[in-house]
Amino acid sequence: MQKLVTGLLKSIVHPETGENIVDGGFVENVTATDDKITVSLLFKKARDPFALKIKSQVQTLLEGRFPQLKESITVFVKEGAPAKPKVEKRTTTGAIRNIVAIASGKGGVGKSTVTANLAVTLRDMGYKVGLLDADIYGPSQNKMFGCEGYLPDAQQIDGFDYIVPAEVAGLKLISIGFFIKPTDALIWRGTMACNALRQLIHQTLWGELDYLLIDLPPGTGDIHLSIISELKISGAVIVSTPQQVAVADVVRGVEMFRNENVNIPVLGIVENMAWFTPAELPNNKYYIFGKEGCKRLAESMNVPLLGQIPIVQSICEGGDSGKPVALDGDTIVGRAFRDLARSVVAETNKRNDEKPATEAVKMHS
Ligand code: ADP
Repeated sequence: MQKLVTGLLKSIVHPETGENIVDGGFVENVTATDDKITVSLLFKKARDPFALKIKSQVQTLLEGRFPQLKESITVFVKEGAPAKPKVEKRTTTGAIRNIVAIASGKGGVGKSTVTANLAVTLRDMGYKVGLLDADIYGPSQNKMFGCEGYLPDAQQIDGFDYIVPAEVAGLKLISIGFFIKPTDALIWRGTMACNALRQLIHQTLWGELDYLLIDLPPGTGDIHLSIISELKISGAVIVSTPQQVAVADVVRGVEMFRNENVNIPVLGIVENMAWFTPAELPNNKYYIFGKEGCKRLAESMNVPLLGQIPIVQSICEGGDSGKPVALDGDTIVGRAFRDLARSVVAETNKRNDEKPATEAVKMHS
């Protein structure tokens, strides 16, 4: 019976490692008799985001296979880093003060556009900024900063290879798009994507940064959880349009970060494409996607509305021409992004004030 149960557990794969949970060492103990099954799962990471998912997979699998024992199947989860965690890899994120993940419930709401413009605005405010384009399904920061052809160099320091980021518009940029052809992105499997991103996160020569912005893929899923678990993220910013369908997806995004196993503060929501303002009528506002959908949602979910960005032709043109429009300074758009950046700084500072100073730079290894 014990062997049978262990054999069955091999059908469950840990999404991050790609190994089955038995060979991957996640099954600490199995006791199985004809009238009782107990499985103890052990996750070495303190906050393995896949722990709950795997626990419920094990429970469902065993209940399906042994319905007569339904009430007598117990699955325990133990979590926690070993007393002295082994640092197998060097990480280059140690000197980064704030890591902010930018997410969206769905694609096409302007997440990458907002991220690029927020990055250059923070830089203009005097912060040292890095940008990691982790949007495996549609990396676009390379295009937005006009460095599509950039081929990152490797640099060896103390026998370790590091990836040299592009330096554009005064910030450091590394995009998964530097490494893959757009047509390949869709066929990348979860584990492959996670491994590549892990490498970009830990091996990029970021140097000292005040802010590292991470442009996440749209939606919620295993890749998000994997990136999130690799890093000590200071907070998440969620971008949406005010449209009802987009707003509904935001709720899932907020819940992903608030999940007890993830537990990352949501710094707030950005309402992009909040209204249309024609260049020749700068005081007119046309609410094309509905009025203040994100504002109401932010209130109902008790998260700050960090900023509202209008639909402006130059934003779109800036993205296409490789020059984020917020670089232009004193325009409607420049001001909107400055308000957003100030809110992001205020919210991250608030979180940093709530924890001991050393926490801000402490990373998961
Ligand atoms: P996502 O990253 O959410 O998929 P993008 O940032 O790629 O979305 O934006 C999708 C399209 O919308 C792009 O062509 C971009 O230039 C345009 N866009 C985004 N925000 C605005 C805006 N506020 N005004 C005008 N065009 C915008």
